[in-house]
Amino acid sequence: MNGNNESTTSENFIKAIIREDLKTNKWGGRVHTRFPPEPNGYLHIGHAKSICLNFGVAQEFGGITNLRFDDTNPTKEDVEYVDSIKEDVKWLGFDWADREYYASDYFEQLYEYAIELIKNGKAYVCDLSAEEIKNTRGTLTEPGTESPYRNRSIEENLDLFQRMKAGEFPDGAKTLRAKIDMKSGNLNMRDPVIYRIKHTEHHRTGNKWCIYPMYDYTHCLSDSIERITHSLCTLEFEDHRPLYDWVLDELGVYHPQQIEFARLNLSYTVMSKRRLLQLVEEKYVDGWDDPRMPTISGLRRRGYTPESIRDFAERIGVAKRENTVDLALLEFCIREDLNKRANRAMVVLDPVKVIIDNYPDDLVEELEAINNPEDASSGTRKVLFSKEIYIERDDFMENPPKKYFRLSPGQEVRLRYAYYITCTNVVKDDSGNITEIHCTYDPETKGGSSPDGRRVKGTIHWVSANHCLETDVRLYENLFLNEDPMQFERFQDNINPNSLQIVNAKAELFLKNAKVGDKFQFERKGYFCVDSKYTTSEKLVFNRTVTLKDSWAKVSGK
Ligand code: ATP
Ligand code: MG
Repeated sequence: MNGNNESTTSENFIKAIIREDLKTNKWGGRVHTRFPPEPNGYLHIGHAKSICLNFGVAQEFGGITNLRFDDTNPTKEDVEYVDSIKEDVKWLGFDWADREYYASDYFEQLYEYAIELIKNGKAYVCDLSAEEIKNTRGTLTEPGTESPYRNRSIEENLDLFQRMKAGEFPDGAKTLRAKIDMKSGNLNMRDPVIYRIKHTEHHRTGNKWCIYPMYDYTHCLSDSIERITHSLCTLEFEDHRPLYDWVLDELGVYHPQQIEFARLNLSYTVMSKRRLLQLVEEKYVDGWDDPRMPTISGLRRRGYTPESIRDFAERIGVAKRENTVDLALLEFCIREDLNKRANRAMVVLDPVKVIIDNYPDDLVEELEAINNPEDASSGTRKVLFSKEIYIERDDFMENPPKKYFRLSPGQEVRLRYAYYITCTNVVKDDSGNITEIHCTYDPETKGGSSPDGRRVKGTIHWVSANHCLETDVRLYENLFLNEDPMQFERFQDNINPNSLQIVNAKAELFLKNAKVGDKFQFERKGYFCVDSKYTTSEKLVFNRTVTLKDSWAKVSGK
């Protein structure tokens, strides 16, 4: 598994091609790319790679980028998806200005082009069923067989195609096929279907059309109509490039260059929209924006920033070879970003009460805490301290092993920003669970250091029991247990049953003013953000974006 060994510099083979084209003036100095999502689902982190690449190279070379919805399949597409895609691209920080296009806007023109292909003897109406077309296509080692309808006259083809458009035939009764070569070594060139009949309403064109153009035919012509220069797509389209070129050459129209790059795969993640839709529909997650989803909206809700995702895209680079990127690299990127920006807070996720027996009953002290040690301009805040506090249950052990440096009977620890305390005894309930930990404190250690130079090995966080905020915190683990969930017959069977855990936590009071989307580092516990879905005026809900443990820096030797 590797993360960024192919390109840690910002140069990549696509930029090299563009640089060369600018030098030779191939496109008259223009760089014009497009991001062409099909509106059949929410965008995921793989799309983010493509967005950063398409918009990024155009920006770098003074070019422009279109947002084009590839909406040729009326049954799976939806306005909800169109809206979410626009929101996500904007959120990532990219701007398509007024260049928002839809392949469906070109249906009329694509139809005219099809007529032209028929007139040139380059397309024919075929009556074979989808099944029959598949069965006569041949294999990688055997040529296909020509359709018995292949040699219809141009007049008959024109008549039938017009009647297809007029709605005279039921779904699947006929197709329009490009007349190329049934013996081609490339299966995509064996008379591919370019139009099919589908009596289905389209989310933009309504019932105007009952024939719909296929992706391969539509995509190249849309690129051509928009005068795209570099049409960047993922590797699986490499074998489709001859067809892309054939359509444009046969019609003699403006001809962009298709360039393929490797798609992003991430460990512990399924990426395709079809599978993500399954997770949503089968209710393994609570929507496309569930914080465990690799969707852009899920990452946003989880607390990822656009900067961290753009940084990730830059670090993984762009290569010609498929690989799987370690999820830990994505987590590394958000830690890097939030470390600099997120204010610190003390929040106890699994509280147990500590009573400081020698602390005055009614005293409440204001102690000074640093908001962000990485950013001096963020200043300090006051934290209230009193006789009863909460600490994490696992910051105490009654019978600790040797190297346990946190609180245990007789052992002294530092309460962050407060005092040194020493445990004297514990109180348990009938089943043996600790309900109270009793301690004494050393008044001389205010602020967390001892005038006599006495050192403690452990520092733990805390909140004052009577001065804290109740909050729900949602803790996440990877959605899948295995690095490669697709190796299972049903990837759903590999879902991690502990991927979501909700705890009731005690937080520092100042957090009550936090707004949806605000981000914090909870000391020792990770980065968290205020959840947009479950937060109410009564209760704040936090998502853990990522823990503090960095497995990426270790792996990569940073
Ligand atoms: P999926 O397989 O998830 O359904 P798709 O390729 O069908 O994705 P499109 O909406 O057609 O989704 O993709 C829009 C653009 O994003 C295309 O140019 C596609 O190549 C690119 N893209 C999709 N998935 C990835 C990925 N994992 N890595 C990089 N680019 C991707
Ligand atoms: Mg697709």
